[in-house]
Amino acid sequence: MFLTKKLSSSISKAILSTAKRTNTLRRPLSDDKPTINTSQDFIHLQEKNSQHDFPHVWLRDNCQCEKCFHVESKSRIINWKYFDVNTKPSDVQLTKDNIEIKWDDGHLSTFNLKWLHERSFNKSDRKNYTENVYKLKKKQWSKNQFDSIFKKFKYDCLINENEELKRWLESLSIYGVALVTDVPSSSDSCRRLASRVEFIKRTHYGEEFEVKAKPGTTNVAYLASNLQLHTDLPYYEYKPGTNLLHCITQSNSSGGENLLCDGLHVADQIRRNKPANYQMLTDVQVEWEDYGEEDGNKFHSMYRSPVICLDKNGDVARINYSTPQRGSHLDVSVDGVKPWYESLKIFTDLIHEESAHYKMSEGEMLCFDNRRLLHGRTEYSDTDQNVRRVIGAYVDWDFINSRLRVLNNK
Ligand SMILES: [Zn+2]
Repeated sequence: MFLTKKLSSSISKAILSTAKRTNTLRRPLSDDKPTINTSQDFIHLQEKNSQHDFPHVWLRDNCQCEKCFHVESKSRIINWKYFDVNTKPSDVQLTKDNIEIKWDDGHLSTFNLKWLHERSFNKSDRKNYTENVYKLKKKQWSKNQFDSIFKKFKYDCLINENEELKRWLESLSIYGVALVTDVPSSSDSCRRLASRVEFIKRTHYGEEFEVKAKPGTTNVAYLASNLQLHTDLPYYEYKPGTNLLHCITQSNSSGGENLLCDGLHVADQIRRNKPANYQMLTDVQVEWEDYGEEDGNKFHSMYRSPVICLDKNGDVARINYSTPQRGSHLDVSVDGVKPWYESLKIFTDLIHEESAHYKMSEGEMLCFDNRRLLHGRTEYSDTDQNVRRVIGAYVDWDFINSRLRVLNNK
């Protein structure tokens, strides 16, 4: 214990003005020893090459003592009904590994320095945490880059090895697409792999769904004709996060190829080159819908959202695109209709230009991000001896991100 600071409110105000002038109250004793000082609302941790500021209110809220934090459940149990947002430290000490605080109501808190560093408010530290721990940062790709980002993973390794499972999920997170090879031909292979993550997302089409030409179908995916580029289930508010498509029998005809396009890349191109069209595609609410019947139950799903949905940072959060399931209601004034169609056409032309083609072999499983990628399939024809058959399932991002964090914490 080499630094002790006792502060009254007036002293801390004086310190604030000093700190503003000099930036540190006390110079480090030597180059690599950190120091702390306190201002009106913050504790400042000064290190050799960086300073980290921690607000008093945040420190008090995140006290790790057993009265405030339940270790087993990793949950805050401090009673917020009685929480004082103006609480101040009356005594702050820096030890080798911790900052120890006595609060004005007598409560004691100890914060481990490593724990504090992981929660630094510095912009670069927050960015690092957001892109590596919260969710992996996505990297967009063009058609020409597809071969280099399209990674392959052996099914058995994913079932048996956590490191490989992690690499597969990372690939899926960053590039939105990955291939699994050497998949057993049984119809529960998607389910076994999904259970390595968590579980399958059920939809109106069941848990696993079989994609093959079906007479009398209520879904165009079950026709052998060309399947236009689309995202699955845009008419769901909780749209499934990823698709797993396991090829059990591939068509011997020249068709049956999958088309894959990175919606992030296309959105970025339009944002840069056609800002007015980008505005339309991110603003105008489209009604997506699906009528059907599965196992004797009729359904009518509907969800309104733009083709390109943005998050609060302006990043693409979700792409919605499916010509068969785009409804005829458009929530836009009549003057906005034609410009919106022109924008949709620009989007459509670009996704076709930017589509990579890949024809799955039997025993392969194509996995992709359904919020981001558009996919399609070229027309094929079945024969009596050769009926194309693919088993599909969905897995949500909540569970993929959860599995990744668990695997990273091991
Ligand atoms: Zn406490």
